[in-house]
Amino acid sequence: MSNYPEYLQKINGEWWLIEDERENMKVSYRIKDVIISESSPFQQLMILDSYDFGRMLVLDGAVQTTSIDGHIYNEMISHVPLCIHPNPKRVLIIGGGDCGVAREVAKYDQVEQIDMVEIDEAVVRLCKEHLPEVSGNLSDPRVHFIYKDGIQFVKEVEDFYDVIIVDSSDPVGPAVQLFEKSFYENIHRALKTDGLMVCQSQSPLFHQHVTKQTLTHIDQLFEHSQVYITTVPTYPGGFWSFTLGSKKYTEVYPQSLVKQTQFVNQEVLQHCFELPEFLRRELQKT
Ligand code: SAM
Repeated sequence: MSNYPEYLQKINGEWWLIEDERENMKVSYRIKDVIISESSPFQQLMILDSYDFGRMLVLDGAVQTTSIDGHIYNEMISHVPLCIHPNPKRVLIIGGGDCGVAREVAKYDQVEQIDMVEIDEAVVRLCKEHLPEVSGNLSDPRVHFIYKDGIQFVKEVEDFYDVIIVDSSDPVGPAVQLFEKSFYENIHRALKTDGLMVCQSQSPLFHQHVTKQTLTHIDQLFEHSQVYITTVPTYPGGFWSFTLGSKKYTEVYPQSLVKQTQFVNQEVLQHCFELPEFLRRELQKT
């Protein structure tokens, strides 16, 4: 193991991934093996085998998903919107290169078309080959892989999708504009008149400005907007938010939930919108 980026270091004979969580905080994971390391025009990609989290996808030094906790995030960002929209037929995923979200969406028989717009084909290729615990054997004919910038893609779509899921990386590099208001305006236009969207809106503890700003943008555009939360151990602070924007539907139908889940159940679906007091207070100010 040599010529690796500085965030993969050998310390006392052991390999460690040292992730910059924020300016004054780093988190280290002891690594068994580097499965693959590759650079694309967009980012530096690694699939590492870690002791505590199994295999992990790391983009530019940031852990994106792991074998151990990836299902929590992927299920929460997928099943919540699919159990609010009563008849989701066309679903768009923006980002989502590890294929975990597409895998969850494909569990719904009524979904006829799943378009996944990922900027970097290398993420999909590496995850399909080396991270099957997250990507699964995703060969569902309803899934169409479109290798494009999601920002450009949604500019050209109108009144088409029932559900749009924005499974983006953190707001750095190619994902910066995925957190801007103009992007949500295009998402709003790309949805049908009763469509709804969800995006990951970062840590309500460490990136509260992002969570609040995302809610503000979505609230200005959509009839209904709401934040929901979960716990993802490998994300900064371990506490994560999602923001939903809906043109019409607001009620969760727990009975719509498919059976094959590991984290989400009917009770989780019903209670994920219940926010702790500090967050409720902060979001009320937006
Ligand atoms: N669950 C993860 C998280 O919250 O950290 C995100 C997973 S997924 C791997 C994020 C994907 O978004 C990456 O594969 C990245 O290539 C993709 N991405 C970033 N910017 C994009 C853009 N402008 N258009 C489409 N995909 C983008």
